[in-house]
Amino acid sequence: MRDWREWLVRQISLAGNFDRHILDAFLQVPREIFSEFKYDPDVVYSDNVIVTAKDKDTYTTSSQPSLMALFMSAAGLKPGMKVLEIGSGTGYNACVMAHVVGEEGLVVGVEINRKFFEKSLEAAAALSLRNVVFVNADGFFGFEKFAPYDVVLVTVAVERISPHWIGQLKIDGRIVAPVHVYTIDRQPAFVFEKTSEGVVAKHLVETRFIKAGGSLGDLNERNLERLSRIEKMFVEPSDFLRLPSSQYETLGVFHVASWSLCERLGWVYFVEDNAFARWKGGWETYGETKLLKAIVEEWARTRYTSMTLLVFHYDYDMNFKGLERWDET
Ligand code: SAH
Repeated sequence: MRDWREWLVRQISLAGNFDRHILDAFLQVPREIFSEFKYDPDVVYSDNVIVTAKDKDTYTTSSQPSLMALFMSAAGLKPGMKVLEIGSGTGYNACVMAHVVGEEGLVVGVEINRKFFEKSLEAAAALSLRNVVFVNADGFFGFEKFAPYDVVLVTVAVERISPHWIGQLKIDGRIVAPVHVYTIDRQPAFVFEKTSEGVVAKHLVETRFIKAGGSLGDLNERNLERLSRIEKMFVEPSDFLRLPSSQYETLGVFHVASWSLCERLGWVYFVEDNAFARWKGGWETYGETKLLKAIVEEWARTRYTSMTLLVFHYDYDMNFKGLERWDET
Protein backbone atom coordinates (compact mmCIF):
# COMPACT_ATOMS: atom_id res chain seq x y z
CA MET A 1 0.00 0.00 0.00
CA ARG A 2 3.00 2.28 0.47
CA ASP A 3 3.26 2.66 -3.33
CA TRP A 4 -0.34 3.77 -3.52
CA ARG A 5 0.27 6.33 -0.79
CA GLU A 6 3.23 7.67 -2.73
CA TRP A 7 0.94 7.95 -5.72
CA LEU A 8 -1.53 9.96 -3.60
CA VAL A 9 1.23 12.25 -2.35
CA ARG A 10 2.33 12.91 -5.94
CA GLN A 11 -1.25 13.97 -6.76
CA ILE A 12 -1.40 16.23 -3.68
CA SER A 13 1.93 17.82 -4.67
CA LEU A 14 0.46 18.75 -8.03
CA ALA A 15 -2.19 20.83 -6.27
CA GLY A 16 0.19 23.10 -4.37
CA ASN A 17 3.53 23.67 -2.77
CA PHE A 18 3.08 21.88 0.56
CA ASP A 19 5.41 21.54 3.50
CA ARG A 20 7.28 18.20 3.73
CA HIS A 21 5.67 17.52 7.17
CA ILE A 22 2.24 17.58 5.55
CA LEU A 23 3.15 15.39 2.58
CA ASP A 24 4.99 12.89 4.79
CA ALA A 25 1.95 12.56 7.04
CA PHE A 26 -0.14 11.37 4.09
CA LEU A 27 2.49 8.67 3.49
CA GLN A 28 2.02 7.35 7.03
CA VAL A 29 -1.73 6.80 7.17
CA PRO A 30 -3.64 4.00 5.38
CA ARG A 31 -6.91 5.56 4.18
CA GLU A 32 -8.83 2.29 3.65
CA ILE A 33 -9.16 1.47 7.35
CA PHE A 34 -11.36 4.56 7.85
CA SER A 35 -14.02 3.27 5.47
CA GLU A 36 -16.71 0.67 6.11
CA PHE A 37 -16.94 0.22 2.33
CA LYS A 38 -14.35 -1.62 0.32
CA TYR A 39 -12.80 0.34 -2.55
CA ASP A 40 -10.02 -0.54 -4.96
CA PRO A 41 -6.71 1.12 -4.05
CA ASP A 42 -6.84 3.43 -7.09
CA VAL A 43 -10.09 4.84 -5.67
CA VAL A 44 -8.97 5.04 -2.02
CA TYR A 45 -5.70 6.72 -3.01
CA SER A 46 -7.08 9.05 -5.65
CA ASP A 47 -7.17 12.72 -4.71
CA ASN A 48 -10.92 12.58 -4.27
CA VAL A 49 -13.70 12.57 -1.72
CA ILE A 50 -14.80 9.07 -0.69
CA VAL A 51 -17.89 8.06 1.28
CA THR A 52 -16.55 6.28 4.36
CA ALA A 53 -19.66 5.34 6.38
CA LYS A 54 -23.45 5.53 6.47
CA ASP A 55 -25.86 5.70 9.38
CA LYS A 56 -29.61 5.68 8.65
CA ASP A 57 -30.14 8.71 6.40
CA THR A 58 -26.78 10.38 7.05
CA TYR A 59 -23.34 9.61 5.75
CA THR A 60 -19.81 10.81 6.20
CA THR A 61 -16.99 11.32 3.74
CA SER A 62 -13.25 11.58 3.80
CA SER A 63 -12.58 14.97 2.20
CA GLN A 64 -10.33 15.52 -0.82
CA PRO A 65 -6.73 15.02 0.41
CA SER A 66 -5.25 17.98 -1.49
CA LEU A 67 -7.93 20.26 -0.03
CA MET A 68 -7.03 19.00 3.46
CA ALA A 69 -3.37 19.69 2.70
CA LEU A 70 -4.37 23.22 1.67
CA PHE A 71 -6.37 23.71 4.90
CA MET A 72 -3.42 22.46 7.02
CA SER A 73 -1.05 24.69 5.11
CA ALA A 74 -3.31 27.76 5.44
CA ALA A 75 -3.71 27.02 9.16
CA GLY A 76 0.09 27.00 9.52
CA LEU A 77 0.02 23.48 11.00
CA LYS A 78 3.43 22.48 12.41
CA PRO A 79 5.03 19.85 14.66
CA GLY A 80 4.20 20.39 18.33
CA MET A 81 0.86 22.14 17.72
CA LYS A 82 -2.49 21.40 19.37
CA VAL A 83 -5.36 21.13 16.88
CA LEU A 84 -9.11 20.94 17.24
CA GLU A 85 -10.86 19.30 14.28
CA ILE A 86 -14.59 19.94 13.92
CA GLY A 87 -16.42 17.16 12.00
CA SER A 88 -13.84 14.40 12.39
CA GLY A 89 -16.07 11.72 10.79
CA THR A 90 -14.32 8.35 10.83
CA GLY A 91 -11.03 10.08 11.62
CA TYR A 92 -8.79 9.97 8.55
CA ASN A 93 -7.86 13.64 8.46
CA ALA A 94 -7.37 13.79 12.24
CA CYS A 95 -4.91 10.87 12.03
CA VAL A 96 -3.03 12.53 9.16
CA MET A 97 -2.78 15.70 11.25
CA ALA A 98 -1.59 13.64 14.23
CA HIS A 99 1.47 12.77 12.11
CA VAL A 100 2.00 16.40 11.13
CA VAL A 101 1.97 17.65 14.74
CA GLY A 102 3.99 14.66 15.97
CA GLU A 103 4.40 13.29 19.48
CA GLU A 104 4.76 16.69 21.07
CA GLY A 105 1.46 17.78 19.52
CA LEU A 106 -2.18 16.76 19.92
CA VAL A 107 -5.24 16.44 17.69
CA VAL A 108 -8.74 16.55 19.19
CA GLY A 109 -11.49 15.49 16.76
CA VAL A 110 -15.13 16.31 17.51
CA GLU A 111 -17.85 14.34 15.69
CA ILE A 112 -21.59 14.64 16.28
CA ASN A 113 -22.54 11.17 14.99
CA ARG A 114 -21.99 8.30 17.46
CA LYS A 115 -21.39 5.59 14.85
CA PHE A 116 -18.79 7.60 12.89
CA PHE A 117 -17.11 8.56 16.16
CA GLU A 118 -16.83 4.88 17.15
CA LYS A 119 -15.27 4.02 13.80
CA SER A 120 -12.65 6.77 14.40
CA LEU A 121 -11.76 5.29 17.80
CA GLU A 122 -11.25 1.89 16.21
CA ALA A 123 -9.03 3.24 13.44
CA ALA A 124 -6.84 5.31 15.78
CA ALA A 125 -6.43 2.25 18.05
CA ALA A 126 -5.47 0.07 15.06
CA LEU A 127 -2.74 2.61 14.22
CA SER A 128 -1.65 2.85 17.89
CA LEU A 129 -1.80 6.63 17.69
CA ARG A 130 -1.42 8.23 21.11
CA ASN A 131 -1.66 11.91 20.17
CA VAL A 132 -5.21 11.91 18.82
CA VAL A 133 -8.38 12.09 20.91
CA PHE A 134 -11.94 11.73 19.59
CA VAL A 135 -15.02 13.23 21.18
CA ASN A 136 -18.68 12.48 20.39
CA ALA A 137 -20.32 15.92 20.68
CA ASP A 138 -21.70 18.94 18.85
CA GLY A 139 -18.64 20.79 17.51
CA PHE A 140 -20.26 24.18 18.13
CA PHE A 141 -19.02 24.03 21.72
CA GLY A 142 -15.44 23.17 20.78
CA PHE A 143 -13.68 21.13 23.47
CA GLU A 144 -12.58 23.08 26.50
CA LYS A 145 -10.59 20.33 28.21
CA PHE A 146 -7.53 20.58 25.94
CA ALA A 147 -7.74 24.32 25.17
CA PRO A 148 -6.04 26.56 24.18
CA TYR A 149 -5.48 25.33 20.61
CA ASP A 150 -3.07 26.61 17.95
CA VAL A 151 -5.47 25.66 15.16
CA VAL A 152 -9.16 24.86 14.68
CA LEU A 153 -9.64 22.98 11.42
CA VAL A 154 -13.25 22.62 10.30
CA THR A 155 -14.09 19.84 7.82
CA VAL A 156 -17.85 20.35 7.60
CA ALA A 157 -19.69 23.34 6.06
CA VAL A 158 -20.76 25.48 9.00
CA GLU A 159 -23.34 28.27 8.87
CA ARG A 160 -21.40 30.36 11.38
CA ILE A 161 -18.14 30.51 13.31
CA SER A 162 -18.60 29.56 16.95
CA PRO A 163 -17.39 32.08 19.55
CA HIS A 164 -16.40 29.01 21.64
CA TRP A 165 -13.65 28.26 19.07
CA ILE A 166 -12.34 31.80 19.41
CA GLY A 167 -12.37 31.44 23.19
CA GLN A 168 -10.41 28.18 22.98
CA LEU A 169 -7.87 29.51 20.46
CA LYS A 170 -4.46 31.00 21.31
CA ILE A 171 -3.64 34.55 20.21
CA ASP A 172 -2.21 34.30 16.65
CA GLY A 173 -4.03 30.96 16.31
CA ARG A 174 -6.04 30.24 13.17
CA ILE A 175 -9.38 28.70 12.25
CA VAL A 176 -9.84 27.35 8.71
CA ALA A 177 -13.49 26.74 7.94
CA PRO A 178 -15.86 26.37 4.98
CA VAL A 179 -18.88 28.62 5.54
CA HIS A 180 -22.25 27.47 4.21
CA VAL A 181 -23.86 30.59 2.77
CA TYR A 182 -27.29 29.04 2.30
CA THR A 183 -28.98 31.97 0.55
CA ILE A 184 -26.65 31.62 -2.45
CA ASP A 185 -25.74 27.94 -2.00
CA ARG A 186 -22.03 28.59 -1.82
CA GLN A 187 -19.32 27.34 0.58
CA PRO A 188 -16.34 29.69 0.62
CA ALA A 189 -13.62 28.64 3.06
CA PHE A 190 -11.97 31.37 5.15
CA VAL A 191 -8.94 31.68 7.38
CA PHE A 192 -9.89 33.40 10.67
CA GLU A 193 -6.95 34.64 12.68
CA LYS A 194 -7.22 35.61 16.36
CA THR A 195 -5.21 38.75 17.12
CA SER A 196 -4.89 40.63 20.39
CA GLU A 197 -7.60 43.00 19.12
CA GLY A 198 -10.13 40.64 17.61
CA VAL A 199 -10.59 38.27 14.67
CA VAL A 200 -9.52 38.91 11.06
CA ALA A 201 -10.77 36.75 8.17
CA LYS A 202 -9.73 36.26 4.55
CA HIS A 203 -11.19 34.08 1.80
CA LEU A 204 -9.16 30.98 0.97
CA VAL A 205 -10.95 28.82 -1.61
CA GLU A 206 -14.42 27.74 -2.77
CA THR A 207 -15.40 24.29 -1.50
CA ARG A 208 -18.11 21.61 -1.29
CA PHE A 209 -18.53 19.87 2.07
CA ILE A 210 -21.24 17.98 3.93
CA LYS A 211 -23.54 20.51 5.60
CA ALA A 212 -23.25 20.69 9.36
CA GLY A 213 -26.06 19.64 11.68
CA GLY A 214 -26.66 20.55 15.31
CA SER A 215 -25.86 24.09 16.43
CA LEU A 216 -23.61 24.65 13.41
CA GLY A 217 -26.51 24.08 11.01
CA ASP A 218 -29.49 25.88 12.54
CA LEU A 219 -28.68 29.52 11.83
CA ASN A 220 -31.56 29.99 9.38
CA GLU A 221 -34.10 28.72 11.93
CA ARG A 222 -32.61 30.84 14.69
CA ASN A 223 -32.74 33.98 12.58
CA LEU A 224 -36.30 33.19 11.46
CA GLU A 225 -37.31 32.93 15.10
CA ARG A 226 -35.72 36.31 15.86
CA LEU A 227 -37.53 37.74 12.83
CA SER A 228 -40.93 36.44 13.89
CA ARG A 229 -40.47 38.05 17.32
CA ILE A 230 -39.89 41.56 15.92
CA GLU A 231 -41.56 41.84 12.52
CA LYS A 232 -45.01 42.64 13.94
CA MET A 233 -43.59 45.84 15.44
CA PHE A 234 -43.33 47.40 11.95
CA VAL A 235 -45.91 48.03 9.25
CA GLU A 236 -44.15 50.37 6.84
CA PRO A 237 -40.60 50.16 5.56
CA SER A 238 -38.42 52.99 6.82
CA ASP A 239 -35.88 53.13 4.03
CA PHE A 240 -34.56 51.51 0.87
CA LEU A 241 -30.81 51.06 0.47
CA ARG A 242 -29.79 50.53 -3.12
CA LEU A 243 -26.40 48.84 -3.62
CA PRO A 244 -24.33 48.78 -6.81
CA SER A 245 -23.52 45.08 -6.47
CA SER A 246 -25.21 41.82 -7.40
CA GLN A 247 -27.48 39.82 -5.13
CA TYR A 248 -24.88 37.05 -5.16
CA GLU A 249 -22.11 39.29 -3.83
CA THR A 250 -24.34 41.17 -1.39
CA LEU A 251 -25.84 38.14 0.31
CA GLY A 252 -22.41 36.51 0.52
CA VAL A 253 -20.77 39.52 2.15
CA PHE A 254 -23.68 40.13 4.55
CA HIS A 255 -23.80 36.49 5.66
CA VAL A 256 -20.10 36.30 6.48
CA ALA A 257 -20.05 39.78 8.05
CA SER A 258 -23.01 39.26 10.35
CA TRP A 259 -24.45 35.70 10.41
CA SER A 260 -27.85 37.46 10.31
CA LEU A 261 -29.55 36.28 7.12
CA CYS A 262 -32.52 33.96 6.79
CA GLU A 263 -34.85 32.80 4.06
CA ARG A 264 -38.63 32.52 4.05
CA LEU A 265 -41.01 31.92 1.15
CA GLY A 266 -38.39 32.97 -1.38
CA TRP A 267 -37.52 36.20 0.44
CA VAL A 268 -34.17 36.84 2.13
CA TYR A 269 -34.18 38.79 5.41
CA PHE A 270 -31.47 40.45 7.45
CA VAL A 271 -32.35 40.30 11.15
CA GLU A 272 -31.22 42.52 14.02
CA ASP A 273 -32.48 42.56 17.60
CA ASN A 274 -34.89 45.47 17.02
CA ALA A 275 -34.99 45.90 13.26
CA PHE A 276 -34.85 43.91 10.04
CA ALA A 277 -34.54 44.29 6.28
CA ARG A 278 -35.77 42.42 3.25
CA TRP A 279 -33.75 41.93 0.08
CA LYS A 280 -35.50 43.38 -2.99
CA GLY A 281 -32.53 44.10 -5.22
CA GLY A 282 -31.63 46.55 -2.42
CA TRP A 283 -32.37 46.45 1.31
CA GLU A 284 -35.91 47.49 2.27
CA THR A 285 -35.40 48.31 5.95
CA TYR A 286 -37.83 48.21 8.87
CA GLY A 287 -36.79 50.09 12.01
CA GLU A 288 -33.31 51.31 12.98
CA THR A 289 -31.09 48.83 11.11
CA LYS A 290 -27.83 49.89 12.74
CA LEU A 291 -25.77 46.81 11.93
CA LEU A 292 -26.96 46.70 8.34
CA LYS A 293 -26.05 50.36 7.87
CA ALA A 294 -22.63 49.80 9.43
CA ILE A 295 -21.92 46.97 6.98
CA VAL A 296 -23.13 49.02 4.00
CA GLU A 297 -20.95 51.94 5.08
CA GLU A 298 -17.87 49.77 5.49
CA TRP A 299 -18.49 47.93 2.25
CA ALA A 300 -18.92 51.24 0.38
CA ARG A 301 -15.45 52.26 1.63
CA THR A 302 -14.04 49.15 -0.08
CA ARG A 303 -15.90 50.20 -3.24
CA TYR A 304 -18.08 47.07 -2.93
CA THR A 305 -15.17 44.69 -3.35
CA SER A 306 -16.14 41.04 -3.84
CA MET A 307 -16.05 38.66 -0.88
CA THR A 308 -12.91 36.92 -2.12
CA LEU A 309 -10.87 40.15 -1.86
CA LEU A 310 -12.23 41.47 1.44
CA VAL A 311 -10.79 41.34 4.95
CA PHE A 312 -13.51 40.90 7.61
CA HIS A 313 -12.97 42.17 11.16
CA TYR A 314 -14.86 40.86 14.21
CA ASP A 315 -14.68 40.97 17.99
CA TYR A 316 -14.10 37.77 20.01
CA ASP A 317 -17.85 37.05 19.97
CA MET A 318 -17.75 37.12 16.16
CA ASN A 319 -19.70 40.39 16.01
CA PHE A 320 -18.96 42.59 12.98
CA LYS A 321 -16.36 45.33 13.37
CA GLY A 322 -15.32 46.38 9.89
CA LEU A 323 -14.21 45.62 6.31
CA GLU A 324 -11.12 46.35 4.27
CA ARG A 325 -9.69 45.33 0.94
CA TRP A 326 -6.85 42.80 0.94
CA ASP A 327 -4.62 45.10 -1.09
CA GLU A 328 -5.23 48.05 1.24
CA THR A 329 -4.34 46.47 4.60
N1 SAH B 1 -12.75 15.01 8.66
C1 SAH B 1 -13.49 13.86 8.17
C2 SAH B 1 -14.57 14.32 7.21
C3 SAH B 1 -15.90 14.33 7.84
S1 SAH B 1 -17.28 14.91 6.86
C4 SAH B 1 -12.53 12.86 7.54
O1 SAH B 1 -11.36 13.13 7.41
O2 SAH B 1 -12.98 11.77 7.19
C5 SAH B 1 -18.09 15.96 8.03
C6 SAH B 1 -18.51 15.35 9.35
O3 SAH B 1 -19.04 16.40 10.16
C7 SAH B 1 -19.61 14.29 9.29
O4 SAH B 1 -19.12 13.11 9.84
C8 SAH B 1 -20.75 14.87 10.12
O5 SAH B 1 -21.43 13.88 10.89
C9 SAH B 1 -20.01 15.83 11.03
N2 SAH B 1 -20.82 16.92 11.64
C10 SAH B 1 -21.91 17.54 11.13
N3 SAH B 1 -22.36 18.48 11.99
C11 SAH B 1 -21.53 18.46 13.07
C12 SAH B 1 -21.48 19.19 14.30
N4 SAH B 1 -22.37 20.14 14.60
N5 SAH B 1 -20.48 18.89 15.17
C13 SAH B 1 -19.56 17.93 14.90
N6 SAH B 1 -19.57 17.21 13.76
C14 SAH B 1 -20.53 17.47 12.85
